[in-house]
Amino acid sequence: MCALSLLLASAVMAGTPGMREAALRHFTPEEIARGQSYMGGRYLLFGIRSVVQLAFFLVLIFAPASRTLRDLSEAWAGHRPWLALTLYAACLLLLYRLLLLPLELYGGYYREHAYGLSTQGLGGWFRDWGKGLLLQVILLLPTVNLLYLFVRRDPLRWFLPAGGVLAVLILVLAFASPVLIDPLFHTFTPLKDADLKGRVIRLAERAGIAVEQVLEADASRRTVKANAYVTGFGRTKRIVLYDTLLKRASADEVEVVLAHEMGHRMYRHIWKGVGLSVVALCVALGIAAVVFRWGSARGLITHPGDPAGLPLLILTLFLLNLVTLPLQNVVSRHFERQADRAALELAGNRQAHIKVEVDLARSNLADTTPPRWAVLLLYTHPPVLERIAIAE
Ligand SMILES: [Zn+2]
Repeated sequence: MCALSLLLASAVMAGTPGMREAALRHFTPEEIARGQSYMGGRYLLFGIRSVVQLAFFLVLIFAPASRTLRDLSEAWAGHRPWLALTLYAACLLLLYRLLLLPLELYGGYYREHAYGLSTQGLGGWFRDWGKGLLLQVILLLPTVNLLYLFVRRDPLRWFLPAGGVLAVLILVLAFASPVLIDPLFHTFTPLKDADLKGRVIRLAERAGIAVEQVLEADASRRTVKANAYVTGFGRTKRIVLYDTLLKRASADEVEVVLAHEMGHRMYRHIWKGVGLSVVALCVALGIAAVVFRWGSARGLITHPGDPAGLPLLILTLFLLNLVTLPLQNVVSRHFERQADRAALELAGNRQAHIKVEVDLARSNLADTTPPRWAVLLLYTHPPVLERIAIAE
């Protein structure tokens, strides 16, 4: 039995043949094992989290729990459907976040500390958790109310105007979050290093894009992991570098990272990402409208505008997201490859490029030999060996 489970575990965790040999050219056996162990746990946590989420929504939909909560909210709100919906949605959100709290605490705090990746105290972690919850309350409750306004007005075709309004909201959020939401979690300061700044300007000229706002984030207060990203558009567009990256990488290596982020800008990946999200959301709402009608016919909800249908809506969006994850990741990995190739052309420094990939994989405990299913389901970026191969 034990041998069988070991065999099964190694089959589930194994990368494609030849991967280990390729990994050994850049990483020690200890580094490979550590990355496998860290990321293996994260794959497992993703699976457990998905099952818990699924069970939570199914119980709410098929057990009388959701209807009881709806009756209580409606009794409390009197004849104000928006208040009943707000109360119901707030209870749902709080229950959901509390249910996931042990998993998030284990994965996001204890495990990160066990692997020496976190620099954050427990108090700080809970402050972040609270801020996240508050943000969800502020953003989600009005959005749900807006959505249900359309559902109550036209129970059949509500998804058309709702999709349009949510598309505008997504655009506003993509524009505003770099200046309104991100600063709640990090402090951003303009890149101080004058030499790097000069490189940024020259890179931007070569990339043929307007000089970017390049900011440094104080990520070291939370983690030792290094990262960089590009966000916002119009006046809020910016490239953000974690201070953990700036502390560890040489100027040549930071230039490679910047060139990658500029590659995203050259290919307009932010716009494309927002556009794809809007299209996906409109399709998902159309499917949700059908599910609402099915729920009404089955007697799970009294009518499409019934607040008790909210778990049905969330489950629909959750399942659609889950089944389209491989497709979403194919698009994301395609964008990342494009940005990598652009970085190689812009920075023109193959050796620094490879060194950055290896260093980032090491410091972030990447799985250097990820199983194919994990790449399909969870990898927004190509695995490190593929990125090294692109550079080579
Ligand atoms: Zn990228």
